[in-house]
Amino acid sequence: MRVVVTGGAGFLGSRLCDALIGRGDEVVCIDNLVTGSLLNLSQHSDQPRFAFRHQDVTTFLAVDGAVDAVLHFASPASPSDYAKMPIQTLKVGSLGTHNALGLAKAKAAKFLLASTSEVYGDPLVHPQVEQYWGNVNPIGPRGVYDEAKRFSEAITMAYHRYHGLDTRIVRIFNTYGPRMRRDDGRVVSNFVVAALAGEPITVFGDGTQTRSFCFVDDQVRGIIALLDSQECDPVNIGSPEEHTIKELAALVLAATGSVSLLSYLPLPVDDPKCRRPDISRAQELLGWNPTVSLREGVERTAAYFRRSEY
Ligand code: UDP
Repeated sequence: MRVVVTGGAGFLGSRLCDALIGRGDEVVCIDNLVTGSLLNLSQHSDQPRFAFRHQDVTTFLAVDGAVDAVLHFASPASPSDYAKMPIQTLKVGSLGTHNALGLAKAKAAKFLLASTSEVYGDPLVHPQVEQYWGNVNPIGPRGVYDEAKRFSEAITMAYHRYHGLDTRIVRIFNTYGPRMRRDDGRVVSNFVVAALAGEPITVFGDGTQTRSFCFVDDQVRGIIALLDSQECDPVNIGSPEEHTIKELAALVLAATGSVSLLSYLPLPVDDPKCRRPDISRAQELLGWNPTVSLREGVERTAAYFRRSEY
């Protein structure tokens, strides 16, 4: 296949490029590098089946030649990033998704949207099933990401129904691992980087809020399985193992052998109180299950931050 990956220089996008190149596909990566980095792609610099284009996907997208699939992964994804780039986040979810869909339509290509557990907001249904419509504050600070992704799902389904485009929607739950930025701002990288430096671990709120953490290799395997499936309705991909943030802090301290202290900071506005995917659809439709334990994943992430300088 010849695959276009928007956001292909990011944490998840670059891992997806690796997996596609690894199985023999040709990849055209498009990224404006606001949160991504070319360092994530240096392993492909001599690869004839890989091409990089520096472009903001909110501007018109044209790609020469045949394209079999468009994977739309461009967007800030960390709450601290989208708080810093609210307009860009809204634009890449709306205009960027429209352009990526337009490219897929012009090429009669498959389209896969990277959506998010944030479409469920601060959920009132637990665990979250795909049929749940969510509980999102449209005007709060997280609304720029949540509503952009909800719009991107709506326009993807409109292209599917109106234009007959072959579409996929993956709802990605908290994913972590090597290639997260040190300053990404999300909880696993923040905790691991602080633990390794012996600096305080910043717990927001009282740390009783929960998340379910999926190691990046498992996430990428799930996304590829969805791409290769026939499933057009949204599918949750994430770990069903739920932890409080305090439990995560203890696990990171144990896994890194750190003696960092916990420092408690105010809970961000609209921070979801709980989050855990119901993964029955991924299990039944894709035969997918996560395999990497949180302890092992945190150890692998810590090993990455120990050896990486950026
Ligand atoms: N969090 C924290 N300390 C940090 C970063 C995040 O306690 O340094 C908390 C945050 O308030 C949230 C959870 O960890 O409850 C997950 O936050 P993250 O930014 O990773 O992603 P989210 O799931 O909120 O999108």
